[in-house]
Amino acid sequence: MMVNIMWDVIIIGGGPAGAFCAYLLARNGCSVVLLEKGEKFRYKSCAGGVTPRALSLLPKVPEEIIEDRPRYLRVFADDVFFEFKLRGEGILVYRSKFDQWLRDLAESEGAVVKYNTTAKDIVFANNFVEVKHTQGSEEGKILVGAFGYSGHLFKKLGIEPPPYSLAVQREFKLPEEDIEEVKGAFETYFGAEFCTFGYAWIFPKSKSRGVSVGIVDKEAKSGLLLKLDYAIKNHPILSKKLRNATLKYVSKVHVSASVIPYGITKKIYGDRFILVGDAAGIADPISWEGMGPAIISSKVATDVILKAIEENKFDANFLKSYYKKLYNILLRDDTIPALRASKRVCIDAEFYSNFNKAMLLCAKEDKKFREIFIWTFSRERPFKYIDEYVRKKTFCILKHIGIRNALRMISQAFLSKLRKSQE
Ligand SMILES: Cc1cc2nc3c(=O)[nH]c(=O)nc-3n(C[C@H](O)[C@H](O)[C@H](O)COP(=O)(O)OP(=O)(O)OC[C@H]3O[C@@H](n4cnc5c(N)ncnc54)[C@H](O)[C@@H]3O)c2cc1C
Repeated sequence: MMVNIMWDVIIIGGGPAGAFCAYLLARNGCSVVLLEKGEKFRYKSCAGGVTPRALSLLPKVPEEIIEDRPRYLRVFADDVFFEFKLRGEGILVYRSKFDQWLRDLAESEGAVVKYNTTAKDIVFANNFVEVKHTQGSEEGKILVGAFGYSGHLFKKLGIEPPPYSLAVQREFKLPEEDIEEVKGAFETYFGAEFCTFGYAWIFPKSKSRGVSVGIVDKEAKSGLLLKLDYAIKNHPILSKKLRNATLKYVSKVHVSASVIPYGITKKIYGDRFILVGDAAGIADPISWEGMGPAIISSKVATDVILKAIEENKFDANFLKSYYKKLYNILLRDDTIPALRASKRVCIDAEFYSNFNKAMLLCAKEDKKFREIFIWTFSRERPFKYIDEYVRKKTFCILKHIGIRNALRMISQAFLSKLRKSQE
């Protein structure tokens, strides 16, 4: 008779959140099984920007995975352009290789990774949790939900899914001489004609002569690929840079659409479970960085799970320290202030576009203001500091926005303050 192993930890999802958590837990002596519905080297829709903050938590990333080392951030907002010199060591990767590296690391520490294995059901018993999947089932002391955005699994856990933004991306190849134009920089493009509340990007993968070109928009519910293609064809700068681009297949994919959950999932822990990464809805709602928060949450979850195993306590009351720690490390000063700021500026397409243009004009004039853009992309400082500085410069921003838009911004700020005082 086959007897199921009682794992210390079952992890659903082998993205950065799940793979890094599996690595840390296995390294600390836990028995871990990681269930991943994709195959090895599966494609993940992502621009592949890993911030210095995220990198500082990871083991050294092998050179062969690093596609580029961006030293500059180029921001285009209509007719305004500025190039920022970045500090710190960010990298650009293809997620197919990067995530595989993380999953292999987990395996090398003793975690068992099961590919082509889709979790279908989660059943909580008195002394364990059972995950039923396409190849059988697993039993464990605790479950880590690292499944990104899965409506089905949120439902199984009885949790309301977090809000999300749509994002689409195309993978291209550029001739050698054209790659030079985009190499070593994050490029972001703002413009009301192709994006309401978000931006388009070119993130180079110079080593393979690739570029990931995408768009994220908090407002869009459909038609985003058409908007991306519009920008690729008609944007005066983007279209020029991609004039000789040809399709590139990355792990069999050259176009993809996905979602980025944000806004913090209402319940990120419960009896015998913890949610990490996108499943916890903790991506940054301004830069849309999700890997950094995923990695941070996995580190915090690991510390709490090790303690839970040591004390044999897996109830929600014990696991609430996960939320408390994550709140202190990430949510309080970073995610929550960024969510508030995002709400303030996402008034309408015209306002958002003017706001970004005004921010860029302020940066051109004021050296200190440039730090705001640098911090947003390096995460050298939590968003709280970015927001504080932006507020100090309100007059400068308003001056560039113009009187009509400025009045709208003030009334919006007043209303949100009023709403907050009534909460
Ligand atoms: C177009 C786009 C561009 C982006 N660019 C960036 C960027 O440049 N930098 C950045 O930091 N972030 C970026 N993000 C966000 C980033 O991709 C996510 O925040 C990040 O992947 C979150 O990691 P995760 O491990 O939580 O989830 P995921 O990476 O989504 O991993 C979840 C895993 O779970 C698996 N899974 C799902 N359901 C099941 C199931 N039922 N059973 C088994 N396995 C399952 C999936 O196959 C997947 O491998 C981007 C997102 C998009 C859509």
